[in-house]
Amino acid sequence: TKWVYTFGDGAAEGAADMRNLLGGKGANLAEMSNLGLPVPPGFTISTEVCTWYYAHGNAYPAELKGNVEDALAYVGKLVGKTFGDPANPLLVSVRSGARASMPGMMDTVLNLGLNDVTVEAVASASGNPRFAYDSYRRFIQMYSNVVLDFPHHHFEEVLDGYKADNGYTLDTDLSADDWKEIVKRYKALVEHELGKPFPQDPQDQLWGAIGAVFGSWMNQRAIVYRRLHSIPESWGTAVNVQAMVFGNMGDSSATGVAFTRNPSTGENALYGEFLINAQGEDVVAGIRTPQNITETARKEAGSDKPSMETALPEVFTEFNRIAGVLEGHYRDMQDLEFTVENGKLWMLQTRSGKRTAKAALRIAVEMADAGVITREEAIARVDPAALDQLLHPMLDPKADKAVIGSGLPASPGAASGEIVFSADEAELLKSQGRKVILVRIETSPEDIHGMHASQGILTTRGGMTSHAAVVARGMGKPCVCGAGTIRVDYAAGTISSGGVTLKKGDILTIDGGTGQVIAGAVPMLQPELSGEFGTLMGWADGVRRLKVRANAETPLDARTAKNFGAEGIGLSRTEHMFFDAGRIRAVREMILADDEKGRRAALAKLLAAQRSDFQELFEIMDGLPVTIRLLDPPLHEFLPHTDAEIAEVAEGLGVSAAKLAARKKEFDEFNPMLGFRGCRLAIAFPEIAEMQARAIFEAAVAAQKSTGKPVVPEIMVPLITGKREFDLVKADIDGVAKKVEEETGTRLDYQVGTMIELPRAALKAGEIAETAEFFSYGTNDLTQTTYGISRDDAGTFLGTYISKGIFEVDPFVSIDTDGVGELVKIATERGRAVRPKLKLGICGEHGGDPASVAFCEEVGLDYVSCSPFRVPIARLAAAQAAL
Ligand code: ADP
Ligand code: MG
Ligand code: MG
Repeated sequence: TKWVYTFGDGAAEGAADMRNLLGGKGANLAEMSNLGLPVPPGFTISTEVCTWYYAHGNAYPAELKGNVEDALAYVGKLVGKTFGDPANPLLVSVRSGARASMPGMMDTVLNLGLNDVTVEAVASASGNPRFAYDSYRRFIQMYSNVVLDFPHHHFEEVLDGYKADNGYTLDTDLSADDWKEIVKRYKALVEHELGKPFPQDPQDQLWGAIGAVFGSWMNQRAIVYRRLHSIPESWGTAVNVQAMVFGNMGDSSATGVAFTRNPSTGENALYGEFLINAQGEDVVAGIRTPQNITETARKEAGSDKPSMETALPEVFTEFNRIAGVLEGHYRDMQDLEFTVENGKLWMLQTRSGKRTAKAALRIAVEMADAGVITREEAIARVDPAALDQLLHPMLDPKADKAVIGSGLPASPGAASGEIVFSADEAELLKSQGRKVILVRIETSPEDIHGMHASQGILTTRGGMTSHAAVVARGMGKPCVCGAGTIRVDYAAGTISSGGVTLKKGDILTIDGGTGQVIAGAVPMLQPELSGEFGTLMGWADGVRRLKVRANAETPLDARTAKNFGAEGIGLSRTEHMFFDAGRIRAVREMILADDEKGRRAALAKLLAAQRSDFQELFEIMDGLPVTIRLLDPPLHEFLPHTDAEIAEVAEGLGVSAAKLAARKKEFDEFNPMLGFRGCRLAIAFPEIAEMQARAIFEAAVAAQKSTGKPVVPEIMVPLITGKREFDLVKADIDGVAKKVEEETGTRLDYQVGTMIELPRAALKAGEIAETAEFFSYGTNDLTQTTYGISRDDAGTFLGTYISKGIFEVDPFVSIDTDGVGELVKIATERGRAVRPKLKLGICGEHGGDPASVAFCEEVGLDYVSCSPFRVPIARLAAAQAAL
């Protein structure tokens, strides 16, 4: 087996399509090298070594040592240096690189190969001892931190103390001798704390770092990240070892990161940040405020620090050219990392850039319009789930706002919540159903779970490419970063700015679109969608086969759904109409009446209300199909709780409160989910279904008149287990239809169908389809009943199940295609065998989940139905599934 792949000097053993073997970083370094771009030479130890390592009790293949030695010699030859040579040492970086970029992995170690001897050689060869010692102290810091697990803050304390003692403020104030002294103190500190000296042998250093990369594949952060992003453990990571180039050699050296297009807006303009005389991740770490790459961006930001375009014009021209080459080659927006050593540009990384949904849309549409990619590719490029970001509310511009500070608009959308200062706190409060804003000086990969749990993220340090900004954009969370005027005091649990102090638990609002930070809550507005949104959605509608409907019952939801392009209502839950203040009392009277007469009296009070609900729904949907489900939930959900409520209902029914309380007891259930609900209600109390059917038919007649369009209601019977139940309820509905036809003199066109949400119904679908005109898979209940797991009680063990790999994802979020999906397939086959034109849809939460939508396409359903805000997601997901 070949374990090691070299790159450099316009050639490489790898290429971009070898990502599985070389990891994303290694594959793209090889590709850039093949393209003849300036890449420091190096080699990649493949992901197969990682797999081997874990399969063999953390050991390496026997040949690896020799392979690495050969590759090091090859790299050394290209740069004219030798690894470990005391007089002319090759220094390298050790970089992890999984297939998918993973923030949980080991941090990069730079300047590896430096020790007390080689540092002198570097100092004299470069004629720049300050640079040599600065590099050495960075190496000690990084290596100790990431390989030896030695906390970073120890070094910071030493450095801060030294600066304070000598009256320095910036790192750049320190001279060669100062850094030499710092190195001495660092080494002493490590030896004191760890009980052994800092490793001096470059070979030990190298294998220590390689081992740390492989080890980090199984660290907690990486495991959590993999779980959140469904990355299989079996993939493994690669290790990249690469000759160092130095951005910290002086004023014609620099390091930076850039995007070939603006990752926030999608604007087609190079966008990035850099720092003069700096190394590695100084830019991202927010140690100094970075400078803009282009003049335009500098002006827009109002920065007084020169852009790269003016400070290093030749480098800028070259960089701009390479950015164009890479974007053209990969046919996608690229995220670039580079270093300038004494005026010479070196490329260190390229990958597809993370972007906001807004940017993703604009870039996809503009690239398709420019003929760089096809429309199908444009459709495939936008992550449907990310559209959610665009649909989020924004601050009402007319509202009063107590702005206490501002930072960079790092990830769009607005959010309000309680201030929390740690990721764990954020997670805890979220689990209590509270909304939080995570406030940090800066974030690191350890904060990911807290960022997930927050409504939004605020940092006081770092630029548009800082960790917080990048991760928040990826998650679609609003984020303001680098809000420098705001002071965070973790110990006191406060933030203060401009004389205002807020404490933990106070409500804070951030606007990730403008960068504003506001005390208190602010009213929000629904967003306006960009032209690109409409364009891409239009393209998507042109290729998808599945129809998209919405689950909606209120006029507001129905209108929202229609605006988002819903092609009908797939599920209207009538019970939601029963909770209205004016109606609940009649509902309670209906339930608690002891006889049919009492029930009918109460139902009569509800009829007019239901009729007008349905009429409005039909009118809003204006001829589009509307599926209405008969009353479904267990009756006890509507029952009165307080004595006052009981007394009120008792009075309405003309019975004593005591008698009513006793009657109420009869409705208690241990397992309401499996209890007296669904069609069981319509069978025991046919008058309920009759009232609903009458309301539906009368509303249809009225809406037909008012809209001038035919209304064909689809009446849906919930929770049946077989044909017999369905037929009983259908007979009642047909009876009511006849009566309404006679009364109104109008012929009614309607369909009666059923939910398939119990395993038995799925199995008996053939028989059911003899009389049912449509099926809607109620995959929430079908998942509960197939697994025997109650959604409401699953919280206690679902996490364990996911972490132990029993569930790859929560089956209530993404349909279990193997089990629940098999039942859907069986029901589809058996149903269509009997009734070839049987209309089939899905109306669980899954209808808005892209992976589940893909499954629905595969099975050949006619439509998916989801919550109104997920309609665009479903439209795009359906298009992608059809490609
Ligand atoms: P990450 O995956 O966290 O981005 P990288 O491996 O890309 O980590 O390294 C982070 C940064 O370290 C790079 O952006 C670059 O600035 C610096 N770096 C890595 N390798 C080298 C090298 N060989 N020479 C100079 N700088 C390097
Ligand atoms: Mg990088
Ligand atoms: Mg159900």
